[in-house]
Amino acid sequence: MHQLTLAEIARGLADKKFSSEELTKTLLARIAQLDPQLNSFITLTEDLALEQARAADARRANGETGALLGAPIAHKDLFCTLGVRTSCASKMLDNFKAPYDATVVAKLAAAGAVSLGKTNMDEFAMGSANESSYYGAVKNPWNLEHVPGGSSGGSAAAVAARLLPAATGTDTGGSIRQPAALTNLTGLKPTYGRVSRWGMIAYASSLDQAGPLARTAEDCAILLQGMAGFDPQDSTSIDEPVPDFSANLNGSLQGLRIGVPAEFFSEGLDARIAELIHNSIKELEKLGAVIKPISLPNMQHAIPAYYVIAPAEASSNLSRFDGVRFGHRCENPKDLTDLYKRSRAEGFGPEVQRRILVGAYALSAGYYDAYYLQAQKIRRLIKNDFMIAFNEVDIILGPTTPNPAWKIGAKNSDPVSAYLEDVYTITANLAGLPGLSMPAGFVDGLPVGVQLLAPYFQEGRLLNVAHQYQLHTDWHTRSPAGF
Ligand code: GLN
Repeated sequence: MHQLTLAEIARGLADKKFSSEELTKTLLARIAQLDPQLNSFITLTEDLALEQARAADARRANGETGALLGAPIAHKDLFCTLGVRTSCASKMLDNFKAPYDATVVAKLAAAGAVSLGKTNMDEFAMGSANESSYYGAVKNPWNLEHVPGGSSGGSAAAVAARLLPAATGTDTGGSIRQPAALTNLTGLKPTYGRVSRWGMIAYASSLDQAGPLARTAEDCAILLQGMAGFDPQDSTSIDEPVPDFSANLNGSLQGLRIGVPAEFFSEGLDARIAELIHNSIKELEKLGAVIKPISLPNMQHAIPAYYVIAPAEASSNLSRFDGVRFGHRCENPKDLTDLYKRSRAEGFGPEVQRRILVGAYALSAGYYDAYYLQAQKIRRLIKNDFMIAFNEVDIILGPTTPNPAWKIGAKNSDPVSAYLEDVYTITANLAGLPGLSMPAGFVDGLPVGVQLLAPYFQEGRLLNVAHQYQLHTDWHTRSPAGF
């Protein structure tokens, strides 16, 4: 039963082949048996899951239908969940139980999804390897010595290991697409504003966006449908109609114009990954797509701009964790300053502290113009590059990451080498565009992802292309040995 996709589960539940309660019990037992190898969950909510599963079964018995009704999922541990620990993988929030559900959590629960628990992640979503978690590193099910990517590494490892069919993630600079690529999943970062950020603990508010991680594009369509939509509680949510993603997966790719930017294939890309990406281009050509070489000339500035903007916003967002209102508080503070200083020094890990320092520096008087303002200007140039490219092409294609998953610990002494792994993903966040990563093959037994980018609100186009590709390839069906 654990091999079933969301789409297959929906059919099985509708045909009464099994109940949501049976499925939920099976998966909870599988998590108990296998997750000690992976560390993909921070909190399991068995009782809540069984309660939600029984409620979903009762709703189906009453004639209700719906692709998510009774479907098991899990949430990255930065979505607030009422009465359940929401830790952001930080000691700072180890004792924090959210007083409300995030919009994404509430919407999926209303659609009947069954939440099995909260998945591991990089602390405050800062990272690309899921090594900065207070609860320990997550292992990649394809090779337990390697990272699963980050920051949504727990969601990715759990879905890749068939502990559950799909999970939520968030993507500020690649944190859905990159772990999807490194674990052989399909992951989608929607257009900025498509999915509500209300109740998502903020990292960099102008970049953060929630989306689905699953094995197939078909399943991403189902999960995104339950997540997307205007939310008046999020001032950056956009009131744009949400199409029926599942109904639009079968469009023909005949004549689809795919732009391939030269900058995505420059120095730093593993040649074996380049070859797999070229194979996937050939596959799409067979389906009728037309390839056009394009250029995104300002891409080289994306990493420096991102690593100013994201830490700047993080330093501001994380100022709310002061040891006073919620979260970790140090013992026996001498005075208020001592309380702030020690609570934050004890509560935040090294990567989070590094980002707060960088961000506070970039925002300080005298440096604001030199760093933050410059970075915002680069952001506009990057967006303009995309706008020009999308006059000529329907989607843009390239690798998701320059390298396959690295060994746990390999980049610990060199944070900048980890930042460089985001080179292909962060432009979409800076521009606010939707992006998807899907399986494209293997290098040394480790999965490789191909990335698709589309104009604003064209998630449906990404899912359509990915679904057609998956009908003609079988990379996404491979599962890791031992799981
Ligand atoms: N790796 C990037 C960072 O560390 C992106 C993380 C994310 O998307 N949350 O900031």
